[in-house]
Amino acid sequence: MAGAGGYGTTNKNARSTAYKPNSYSTCGILPSICKPMPSIPPKPWPTGLADQLEELVIRVLAPNPSPYTYTGTQTYVVGEEDGPDCAVIDPGPNDPAHIDAIEAAICNRVVTAIMCTHTHRDHSPAASPLAERTGAPIVGCAPLVLNSDLPRADEAFDTTYEPDRVLEDGEQMRGTGWTLTAVATPGHTSNHLCFALEESGSLFTGDHVMGWSTSVVIPPDGDMGDYMASLEKLQTRDDTRYHAAHGAAIEKPRQLVRGMIGHRRQRENQIIRLMGERARTAAEFIPDMYKGLDERLIGAAEMSVTAHLIDLEKRGLAAREGEIWRTI
Ligand SMILES: [Zn+2]
Repeated sequence: MAGAGGYGTTNKNARSTAYKPNSYSTCGILPSICKPMPSIPPKPWPTGLADQLEELVIRVLAPNPSPYTYTGTQTYVVGEEDGPDCAVIDPGPNDPAHIDAIEAAICNRVVTAIMCTHTHRDHSPAASPLAERTGAPIVGCAPLVLNSDLPRADEAFDTTYEPDRVLEDGEQMRGTGWTLTAVATPGHTSNHLCFALEESGSLFTGDHVMGWSTSVVIPPDGDMGDYMASLEKLQTRDDTRYHAAHGAAIEKPRQLVRGMIGHRRQRENQIIRLMGERARTAAEFIPDMYKGLDERLIGAAEMSVTAHLIDLEKRGLAAREGEIWRTI
């Protein structure tokens, strides 16, 4: 079995430079908000190659790097290398070259399920074309119910996603030598699922927990209270390794999640203190909370603050009058 899921691991075909996971995406939040700006690992990245991370896990990196997706979306093929069947997790963007690479990693195996953690556009659009090619069912997260009366970040969502079966928390998909259990983890999106590989103790965390970044929570679909509860939920589990949709594998998952919970609590306390000094709009928190923030990241920072404010409002700790937020 290969070690960590960085790009320097032993793999079938890829030869690439090792890198250390760093923090930082509609997926991860912009790094300089929370931590020093991460460096993207040097190329070559193993885009389009089958990268064996564990006995049962192959990673295929999609060609969609960006400040929001890091080096790109990582699709996982789960199953015995010489077994009869496998599952595909987060097929990624509808890019024919990427789908060709996934098919190469599947090799001659039957695809039992195409499983999506959530329906952001860098995760699920390849599900339908891959289903057409392989005949596999689309199984996993629910489609997002968009309410046209509310403002939403519709552009970030794959509205074409049509699952054959939605998995509830704790439901399993099984194949020869592999079992994947759905772990409901709403917050980043309301329909987010992680998938636990029972045979190895690994958890596929989608965008809920990533090693290079904290997850972006964009209201109204993104919910900070749900996100925190989903982090706490992971703390009660004994998963030994996380495979995120972006960035290297996480080998000390509980430690990372503990740090993420602490970071969000710190931000929350900062917001309460600033509201106590004077009532203000969400935008007016930014200069005090994110000193020297890159202008391009201000919008994301404001969404994150708004997600916290809505959560505080639900908990009776903040109130708003129009655009102005104040303590109670
Ligand atoms: Zn996402």
